[in-house]
Amino acid sequence: MSDDKKLTTRAADFSAWYNELVLRAELADYSPVRGCMVIRPNGYGIWERMQRALDDRFKATGHKNAYFPLFIPESFLHKEAEHVEGFAPEAAVVTHGGGKKLEEPLVVRPTSETIIYSMYAKWVQSYRDLPILINQWANVVRWEMRTRLFLRTLEFLWQEGHTAHVSHDEAQEETLKILRLYRDFMEGWMGMPVITGQKSDAERFAGALRTYSCEAMMQDNKALQAGTSHNLGQNFSKAFELSFQTETGGQEFAWNTSWGVSTRLIGGLVMTHGDDAGLVTPPMLAPTELVIVPIYRSDEERSKVLEVAGQIERDLGRADRRYHNPIRVHVDRRDGMKPGAKYYEWELRGIPLRIELGPRDLDKGQAVLVRRDTKEKKPVSLDTLGTEVETLLVRIQNDMLARARDRREANSLRGGITYDRFREVMQGDGAFVYAGWCGSGACEAQIKEDTKATIRVLPDEEFRSAEAPTTCLKCGQSATAEALWAKAY
Ligand SMILES: [Zn+2]
Repeated sequence: MSDDKKLTTRAADFSAWYNELVLRAELADYSPVRGCMVIRPNGYGIWERMQRALDDRFKATGHKNAYFPLFIPESFLHKEAEHVEGFAPEAAVVTHGGGKKLEEPLVVRPTSETIIYSMYAKWVQSYRDLPILINQWANVVRWEMRTRLFLRTLEFLWQEGHTAHVSHDEAQEETLKILRLYRDFMEGWMGMPVITGQKSDAERFAGALRTYSCEAMMQDNKALQAGTSHNLGQNFSKAFELSFQTETGGQEFAWNTSWGVSTRLIGGLVMTHGDDAGLVTPPMLAPTELVIVPIYRSDEERSKVLEVAGQIERDLGRADRRYHNPIRVHVDRRDGMKPGAKYYEWELRGIPLRIELGPRDLDKGQAVLVRRDTKEKKPVSLDTLGTEVETLLVRIQNDMLARARDRREANSLRGGITYDRFREVMQGDGAFVYAGWCGSGACEAQIKEDTKATIRVLPDEEFRSAEAPTTCLKCGQSATAEALWAKAY
């Protein structure tokens, strides 16, 4: 694959487009270990900005970071029956250390409920010790058979929040608070609209009372589960004897929540916004928001243009700008490379805004601004360039969310779809289908077998149809809920 070869188009092969984009934009690379990935600086820079934004929000809602070990005693996984059933099949297990067989094998954490609640059990005696609101940034390992860069890898990076509370209601409030926080981040920062709601029992986290999820529609009309928040009830506190003395002197088990988002979000960002020229990054998450490409023929022109480019870089990079400061600017000073080749490369990498600056522009006292998302070009006076750039970055951020939302709604079906039509849709272009469900696991399983579509969530009220469906999509019996159906990553 040569560097100047065009990407496979989304229409031709969405999956090939995705893989090529991730590799060619240098977001990630395959590793010598099957199923693992190397996150390259372009991808990691996006992850760092995601981390910072989320971490600020966790802290603002009273959470603190801590760190728990990578290794979990194998017996811990077995203490919660559903949990071990869910996670044992994909566990990586260490049996030897320092050349000796271990007395008890160690599981490389697939998620940290067990080790964390075993520690909370040690730290909590009374209701005064609650709530505990802890988050950890970590890597986890799940031995997946079929892997995709960012979307599903053996090892991935994430954050996992783990909290303990005095009551069911307080834990439920925390579960939903985080779900909202995730949604705000995904829409506000990633420009990725999501449908939130509760998972059906079949899709519930192993060991949870209730699981809630943010579901985003990718450009192939498949759903991406982008973040989950679980009310764990007392399942883990009972398994790990995490109990406390209540205010009235009794003894009760604590109520837990856990919640996480991962580097999978980068895959979601690619598949929400990318186009046939490459990545399109929302400005708020772009490690570089603006690239300046100087245009020149002679050495004299070069020094003139680079001088102005340097001035713009210093001016926009100043710390006292109105927009989130300073603007992250890069001047492409590479010599011996044509401007067109540079445009191509920065488009592939998804830099939100480009300035083209040549001697003719300087004569007119202007620069040309080019939006990555719409490719729209606009000459702008150098005197007002700073304000124009700030305004455009905000507009790009907002437009990206609006476009993604319009696309999702255009590919959503509501209201009385027949099962035959549903099968046709799922075999064809796919969609988000809102339809009635009788609540039976048998109907859910049959639909999955027939179409590969699953219940993504039972949508929260604001996403439900104005007229509630009355019958089940599959069996025609009375519906107990409206469900969002889609094929998923
Ligand atoms: Zn049914």
